[in-house]
Amino acid sequence: MTVKDIFDSMAYGPAPENSDKAQAWLAAHKKTDLYYGGVWEKAKSKKYFATINPATGEKLADIAEANDKDVAAAVAAAKEAQPKWAALRDFERANYMYAIARSIQKHARLFAVLETMDNGKPIRETRDIDIPLVARHFYHHAGWAQLLSRELKGYEPVGVCGQIIPWNFPLLMLAWKIAPALATGNTVVLKPAEYTPLTALLFAEICDEVALPAGVVNIITGAGSTGEHIVNHPDIDKIAFTGSTEVGRIIREKTAGSGKKLSLELGGKSPFIVFEDVDLDSVVEGVVDAIWFNQGEVCCAGSRLLAQESIIEKLEAKLLARMETLRVGNPLDKAIDIGAVAAPVQLKNIKSLVEKGVAEGATFHQPSWASSGLPSKGNFYPPTLFTNVQPSSTIAEVEIFGPVIASMSFRTPSEAVKLANNTRYGLAASIWTENINLALDIAPQVKAGVIWINSTNQFDAAAGFGGYRESGFGREGGREGLLEYLVPTWQKTAKARSKAGSKVKAVSDTNSSSNFPELAFPAIDRTPKFYIGGAQKRPDSGYSNEVIGANGEAIALVGDGNRKDIRNAVEAAHKASGWAKATAHNRAQVLYFLAENLAARALEFEERLIAQTGQSASSAIEEVNLSIERIFYYAAQADKYDGQVKQTPVRNVTLAMPEALGVMGILCPHEAPLLGFISLVIPAITMGNAVVVVPSETYPLSATDLYQVLDTSDVPNGVINIITGNKDSLAKTLAEHDDVDSVWYRGSRDGCKLVEAASIGNLKQTWTSHKTIDWFNQEQGEGKEYLRRASQVKTIWVPYGA
Ligand code: NAP
Ligand code: MG
Repeated sequence: MTVKDIFDSMAYGPAPENSDKAQAWLAAHKKTDLYYGGVWEKAKSKKYFATINPATGEKLADIAEANDKDVAAAVAAAKEAQPKWAALRDFERANYMYAIARSIQKHARLFAVLETMDNGKPIRETRDIDIPLVARHFYHHAGWAQLLSRELKGYEPVGVCGQIIPWNFPLLMLAWKIAPALATGNTVVLKPAEYTPLTALLFAEICDEVALPAGVVNIITGAGSTGEHIVNHPDIDKIAFTGSTEVGRIIREKTAGSGKKLSLELGGKSPFIVFEDVDLDSVVEGVVDAIWFNQGEVCCAGSRLLAQESIIEKLEAKLLARMETLRVGNPLDKAIDIGAVAAPVQLKNIKSLVEKGVAEGATFHQPSWASSGLPSKGNFYPPTLFTNVQPSSTIAEVEIFGPVIASMSFRTPSEAVKLANNTRYGLAASIWTENINLALDIAPQVKAGVIWINSTNQFDAAAGFGGYRESGFGREGGREGLLEYLVPTWQKTAKARSKAGSKVKAVSDTNSSSNFPELAFPAIDRTPKFYIGGAQKRPDSGYSNEVIGANGEAIALVGDGNRKDIRNAVEAAHKASGWAKATAHNRAQVLYFLAENLAARALEFEERLIAQTGQSASSAIEEVNLSIERIFYYAAQADKYDGQVKQTPVRNVTLAMPEALGVMGILCPHEAPLLGFISLVIPAITMGNAVVVVPSETYPLSATDLYQVLDTSDVPNGVINIITGNKDSLAKTLAEHDDVDSVWYRGSRDGCKLVEAASIGNLKQTWTSHKTIDWFNQEQGEGKEYLRRASQVKTIWVPYGA
């Protein structure tokens, strides 16, 4: 080949990365052990599985497969280490984490090469993206360790964290899990994915190298069953999971009622929205990053290209031209764009979904070299574009997790939003336009945890990452990520409920002559109905329950709510979505007015409390006064519980915006009939949610008395809906309801389990407690934790200063 030939073709020559060091590491690690308690232990299972290089099909090592006994030993080590690790001074913990960050940088190239060999992703990406981000994550969180006791007062570590990660960013996902856990004083048992365990094992060696105290980090290799053992172990206090929505659901169900804290980072089908005023060439490079980065094995990959009708053909033509120039091949070659898919089954999945796309009538495009230009060995797949895709087709709905993008058009911005939100997922979205007004108008409307404006796939340790809807819940990165590894001290110390309702006479305990209630109980003057959409509605069932007063006699009848009443209430709540868009100032004004109107009727509420519970006059007065004060607290917070601008190391302002969850179901405790209701409902609506509330089953009248107060306080119709009846059966209905975004439950242990297990349909967030909260105690009964739980952080990356 002459210089002239090279100039003519401008083709890349091979630029292979030297893998000698990684080969030497592999030669010394032919059969690996488990790392826990600060030492390497042989697997008690005596079982091993092979990890394979997906680019060549060669075996790299035999990896120990941990069984239940191995997991138990690792959890025991973590449990023993946890209080000691948490008791270290911030500076000491920070020092260890800083040492880990330094050590990762020292071994950066070995990590990068090993990662590429195990996973198949291009060395260019492991070297320039994965490993630098891993180091950045440990540096950033070393800082948090240093600041912990000053910046996060009133919180405690959760304890022992079980962490389960996928194969697409093996070391990066490990860093996302381990760094915040360690910074906040937790210890971890982490299981890397079966296909990609090697860099986690090298990381364990680094923990040794920096003399991290024994048991703080424990790395347990294995397959799905090893993960199950971690999930089920009773001494695990939190599960942090990244992986498929399917397994996320299983984990939610398995941990229901266990008291384990849970964060789930699941799948996605993220929209990449392109408006007609864009610079198309920048967009083309954006698409390359969105879907052909990491072979498209990215949970937040922009896998749905939504382009405005006027430019879609031009954009597609440019993309086809660009696809021709992408290079698929040996991931250790520095000039390769797309490496190998992680495993043969994954390749099979991709192929079968692509076949489905063709069968369903979409137009299929691959580069001209696709059939001849792929390496003969290994799991390679060419970049693929589908055009003329129906929004209801499989390839528009299902996560492909490969280098395949489906293109669809829209006419107007509102149509773009509808298409973007036409998915069960809600992980990320990219918005491309030169019009800042348009971009910032669309950003709040797209239901996704991360929004990139004129950019895509940006990640940083300081910025929260995580999903809405079936993409999971919880955030990783930044302060919001740390809070996933902490619990408020009051929550940890609150006492378990002795037995729900033991102090009170259950309604069902009394036998009544309910055929003639008005004769049997002449004291009943009115029968409160439900409060739905701002109006009083009769129960669908036509049944009512007696409310037994402190004197042992029935003092009222309240409706017995059922599935249909809940459905109506949820519908009414959805119609109140304007509340979320009201300004925080306006919401505060409504809350102040509500407090004022409650104060005007304080006496009536005090009397009602006494009649229901028999509490002393002074405690009734205190309960009403505190309720008013609590409303004031949240009114004050409404425009102060605000977001942040994150210091991400790129030319962006990265906004962290708290957003309403949507429609929340709230099941009130039986105690503190008024204050318990106020303490849960008011923070929820402060953040812009609409709620369906089931008040205390035993003492519902303090809630039903609020109807008139709500009517006179300008609370928009549908923002607060109240259904009385059996708490646990209504809780189940709310938890199962796919249009409910979150359920808060205060009640029995069984009820907590019921709610969590029933939440798996749409993977709604839940906040349950069987503990007795002292609602009169300011620290327990009110605070930012309530606002945090009533909202989720949307991270918006906006170009700035570029
Ligand atoms: P996966 O099958 O859900 O596996 C994830 C992890 O869970 C692996 O370590 C797996 O072990 C383990 N596991 C499997 N079954 C389990 C069970 N019953 N109990 C406990 N653990 C179990 O997901 P994947 O196919 O490896 O990864 C791809 C998925 O992850 C995609 O859907 C992608 O969107 C998602 N993902 C999400 C994010 C995010 O941040 N949101 C990031 C990356 C990937 P084995 O490896 O041995 O099967
Ligand atoms: Mg492998």
